[in-house]
This record gives sequence, C-alpha cells and structure tokens, in this order.
Amino acid sequence: MLESSYNEVLVACSILVAVLAAYTALNMASRVSSASGKAAVLWLIGGSFAMGFGIWSMHFIGMLAFSLPIDQGYDVPLTVLSLLIATASSALALYLVCQEKLPFSRLVSGGILMGLGIAAMHYIGMDAMLMNPHIVYVPSLVVLSIIIAIAASLGGLWLAFRLREVDKQATFARMGAALVMGCAIIGMHYTGMAASRFPLNSFCGAANSGIDTKWLATLVIIVSIAVFAIALIVSMLDVRTNRLSESLDSANNELIKLALHDNLTHLPNRVLLNDRMEQAIHRAERNNSEFAVLFLDLDGFKTINDIHGHHVGDLLLQEVSQRLLGSKREGDTAARLGGDEFVVLLEPVTPGNSAIFAQRLIDKIEQPYEAANHHLQISTSIGIAIYPQDGQTEHELMVHADAAMYHAKKQGRNGYCFFKRSMNTDVHLQMQMQQNLRHAADRNELVLHYQPKLIAPSGPITGLEALLRWQSPDHGLLSPDRFLPLAESSGLIVPIGNWVINEACRQMKVWHDQGHKDWNVAVNLSAVQLEHDSLVDVVRSALTQHSLAPSHLVLEITESTAMRDAEASLKVLNDLSALGVSISIDDFGTGYSSLLYLKRLPANELKIDRGFITELAQGNDDEAIIRAIIALGKTLGMKIVAEGVETTDQQELLTGLGCNTLQGYLLGKPAPPDTLLDTITHLTKRSESATIT
Ligand code: C2E
Ligand code: MG
Ligand code: MG
Repeated sequence: MLESSYNEVLVACSILVAVLAAYTALNMASRVSSASGKAAVLWLIGGSFAMGFGIWSMHFIGMLAFSLPIDQGYDVPLTVLSLLIATASSALALYLVCQEKLPFSRLVSGGILMGLGIAAMHYIGMDAMLMNPHIVYVPSLVVLSIIIAIAASLGGLWLAFRLREVDKQATFARMGAALVMGCAIIGMHYTGMAASRFPLNSFCGAANSGIDTKWLATLVIIVSIAVFAIALIVSMLDVRTNRLSESLDSANNELIKLALHDNLTHLPNRVLLNDRMEQAIHRAERNNSEFAVLFLDLDGFKTINDIHGHHVGDLLLQEVSQRLLGSKREGDTAARLGGDEFVVLLEPVTPGNSAIFAQRLIDKIEQPYEAANHHLQISTSIGIAIYPQDGQTEHELMVHADAAMYHAKKQGRNGYCFFKRSMNTDVHLQMQMQQNLRHAADRNELVLHYQPKLIAPSGPITGLEALLRWQSPDHGLLSPDRFLPLAESSGLIVPIGNWVINEACRQMKVWHDQGHKDWNVAVNLSAVQLEHDSLVDVVRSALTQHSLAPSHLVLEITESTAMRDAEASLKVLNDLSALGVSISIDDFGTGYSSLLYLKRLPANELKIDRGFITELAQGNDDEAIIRAIIALGKTLGMKIVAEGVETTDQQELLTGLGCNTLQGYLLGKPAPPDTLLDTITHLTKRSESATIT
C-alpha cells in the first residue's frame, strides 16, 4: 500500500471551513423559515448552494491536505457531480428545517437521506482521482463513516430546526451547534479517508489535469470563505431590513390604530364604526340577514363629572367600555362616539336577541363601580335600530338609533327602546323647531310671564320671576321645557337668554315707574350662558340701558348649573355679584353641592326645589329635609324661598319652618305683564285681609 500523509495547515483549514459551513447552514435555515413566498424560495436556493459548497469545499480541502507519494489530480466531471450532490443534500436539509413541523419520522428519513448524500459526495469525490488499480476500502470504516455522516446530519437537522428563531441567544447557540456539526462532518471525512487503502504501484488517472493542488487548495479556501461571508452578510442585511420593515410596520399599525380608535377607552371611534357599519350593510345585503345598531348614552354622567372631576369620569368611561367589551360577542363592534355615547353593532341579529342583549348591557352597566376610591353608580339608556327596516344607510341607522335612545331617556332612563317610524317625525320636528326658534326673537314670538314671590305667608310681593314662553305659530304657547333643551344644545340659548335679561330689566323699569319701587325681578340663567364670556357685559348694559339699579335684579342659577364647572362658575358669579346683582340658587336639593363649594358661592338666596314642597306634610321626610335646608341656608346667611306652593297647608307649614319667601300657584300663577296686575291686586287684597285678621 502507498504511504499517505496529511498537510497539517490544510487539515486545520478544512476543520475551519467545516465549522463555518455548519454555521452558515444554521443561519440559512433560520432565514428560510422566517421568509415567505418568493423570498423563501430564493433563500432556499442560495442557502443550499452556500451550504452545499461549504460541505463540499471542506471535503475537497481535506482531500487536498491528503498526499500520496505519486502525482495526484481530480477528474472535473466527477468533482462537479460531488459538488451537486452536496448541494442537493443541503437543499433537502433546508427544506425540511423550514417546514412548520419536523416530526420524528421526517427527521429520521431526512437525516438518513442527507447522511447518505454526504457520504456519496465523499466517495464520488474520492473516485474523481481515477485511481488505478481502484482504491481498496475497509468495509467497517466505510460503514462507520456513513453512520457518522447520518448521525451528523440528524444532529444538524434537529439543531437547525430548534434554532430557527432569529434572536441574540440563538446566535450563540448556533455557534456552539456549528462547532459540533463541523466536527461531525470532519469526523466523517477523515473516517472515510482512513477507510481507503491505495495499492502499491497505483497511479492517479486524473494526475495530468495539470492543476497544482496547492494553488487549487488556496482557491477553494478563498472561494468558500467568500461564499460564507457573502451568505452571512446578505443574511444579516436581510435581518436588518426585516427588523426595519417590522418596526416600520408596527409604527404604521400604531398610527392606524390611533386614527381609528378612541384615545381614552381604545374602543373603535366613529370613523372605524362607520367602516364596520358599511361592511355590515354589505354582508347583510349578501346574506339577506339583519343587524342591530345599539345607541347607548349614560344617564347622569355629567353630574358624576361635575361632582368627582374629569379624572373619575374618565375612569368610569373606561370601566363602562370594559363591560361593553365583556358583554359583546366575538365579531360584534363596540365603539365610543365621544363623551358618554357608545354604539354596539350586533351582527347578525333578530329583534328578540337584540332586546335580550340590550337588557344584559343595562344590567351590567348598572352594577356599582369603584373608581379612585369613589363608590359610583350609573345607568344607561339604549336606542335600537335594525337594518334594513329602520334604515338603509349608516347615517339613517345612527340617527334612528339616536332617536330611539332619546325616547328611552324620556321613558324614565335605564331602559331600551326600539326605533319606530313615529320617532322619525320627532327628529324632523326637532330640526324644524330649531329652525323656527332661530327666528323667534326677531319675530317677537318670545314672551316673558312673571310669577310673584311673596314674603311668607301671604305677602307683600318682594319680586317676580321672569319665565320664558314661546308663542310658536305652529304649536301655540310653549313652556320652556318644550324648547329650552333645544335652545341649549344648539347654542341659541345665548341670544335668547340675552333677550330675556334685557326684556326683564325693561319691564321692571316700567313697574318701578308705576310705583312698585321695591320689587325686584328674577331671571333664570342656563349653564351655557354662564360659560359665555359676554354674560357680565350683557347684564351690565341691560341695567344701564333701562336705568335699573343692580339690586333690583336677581339671577337664578340651578344648583347643577353652578356645579358644572365649579371654578369657572365661581369666577363669573363673583363678577356678577360685584356688579351688585343678587344670586339665587334655584331647585336646591336636587344637585349634589358640596358644602364647601356652597359656602364660597356669592349667593343671597336658596330656592328649595318644588319636589320637596309637593309631598310636604307634617312629620314626613320632606319636612325634615326642608328643615335642614333652611338651617343650612340661614347659617350661610341666605334668604330661603320655597317654590311650588300649591296649598294653604304647605303655605302654613313652610312659614312655620322659617321660609322667608313663598312662590307658587296658590299665591299667583305665572302670567303676562298686562294680566299680572290683576293677580297682584287680588294678592295685595288678600295679604291686607290676612294682616287685618
Ligand atoms: P324654575 O326656575 O324652577 O321655575 C319654576 C317653574 O315652576 C316654572 O315653570 C313655574 O311655572 C313652575 N311653578 C311655579 N309655581 C308652581 C306651582 O305651584 N306648581 C307647579 N306645578 N309648578 C309651579 P316653567 O315656567 O315651565 O319653567 C320651567 C323652568 O324653565 C324654570 O324652572 C327655569 O329653570 C326654566 N326657565 C324658565 N324661563 C327661563 C329663562 O328665561 N331662561 C332660562 N335659562 N331658563 C328658564
Ligand atoms: Mg327659577
Ligand atoms: Mg326652580
């Protein structure tokens, strides 16, 4: 047999190349599995080539490190074939690794195929020397080399599959795995070499290929390292680009989310809701099905905001939206329109199950809340519109669900109401009314009625409260509850309120000139007016224009109006009080004034709400409440007025309890100024007779 020897430098190079090839292979595996579509195919082809070339060049460098005492060479077609086999085995390996799952059976069959491929590459590569006589192989070592190849392939496949995820830890794990795999490949190669015996007098048939082996070795090392380098750089660039595009994607998603969701509750906003509704309409049309739009408005949310502050209000809204999300089915949409208004889309649905759902929501929202150490309770009113019968477009459905919600509120809140065609006319009516109200003042349709306030028990008159009426050409004489909400929501209350202030001052001046010098006039203010900057100027100029002393004007604000934006109201009220006008707190007992705040208000008068007077009887709860209110008002130095006095019993009781002033149908109904004087003469007579008796 011929003596063989190894070039140590080239052996070391072959080990290095083997480890690098293994590392590249593992890296490629993770690239192939994280890419998709065309990119995955390209990675598979490029990866198979880089990896195949790596395994092959390790083998070839190993061959070049091996020298016999005869001339050596390599047959080009067989060498190329061995390269192709290496590439094909790598392609198989990469393909297996990038699959979703790698079951045991596939791992074993893949490992065996790949191991056989590597062994085939090795022995065909040996054949490329075209030795004559043929190389003699030691069967046991050949079998061992094949077993090592299969074992290395199995281990390699398993590791590559496990380490596919691209992250930092995986890089270190991959380096370790590459070392193990590289050594296994080397082990296979050198076991295979050890299995070969070269008979004496052999000669190498490919020796006259004329390529110098040293030069060839350098070339293969350089090319293989270049291939690994390129593969790794491209792979890293790809990871970077992927990461960049991932972060761009997530930034983009975040932006879209912001534009389509409500900031506070993270529920879809109006824009997204409209889109979902549009889709729901298409689906319902296609499937001939129905869906429901539930319009929710919380009852009394504003009061919670006023009393506990916006922070608590926000927490409550967040909790309400969680309850909505918790109640809806998958596929239904819960959105927030703003403020305390929410919409739920139920799809598909029947009127029956939308009613059940609405009731479930009502029950759930009614459960107590804990927000920032406050124990809160709130209810909701729901309007339901069903597609297609209640509306064909998003807009129609929303308007109709809103109209139905409004009805639910009117029916006493904390309930639901289905849309009916008759409500639609309400909506149109309201719009028509708003249009007409806009011109009411110019057309002299607004009038003030006046109701006397008397010193308890029966006079004399201390003043009159101006109460607004609208003489509507379509509906006759309307009381404020018919049009004030509309005036407030449309902002028309500001010009209308200014007219009231001016007209009341004018009328009072007329009465003063007629000799009623000690009367004052009370004007009601709404919250919107109080928030308007011009209020103080409007009051001042009305007083000046009609030469009325400020002490003859009383401004009535309801307790909840004053509480709406407590600090801002306080400032305006102080300015008004500085003008010299009196401030009266109307409907007292219905709001939730804090005593501290009440103490700071520059008010001169408390008007006990009519609600307490109506049921008043000796010894009942209302009597106790009124007694407490009077005690409170007196402590704060305020005059106490009872409104809504309808019976002589009430009159007597209230007087006995210490009310200074009484107002009510018993003592005089609101009347226009011209007929008022009759009432007053009648009252004066009564009070005179009362004094006489
Ligand atoms: P308010 O200021 O509490 O006025 C008292 C209301 O009770 C008046 O109703 C009056 O007619 C009614 N009333 C008086 N005595 C009795 C009684 O013995 N029994 C019964 N059942 N009712 C009695 P009205 O005129 O319908 O006004 C309702 C509310 O509209 C007023 O409540 C006030 O808050 C508001 N309002 C009236 N005029 C104006 C105005 O010019 N501007 C503003 N912003 N609000 C106004
Ligand atoms: Mg009033
Ligand atoms: Mg009142």
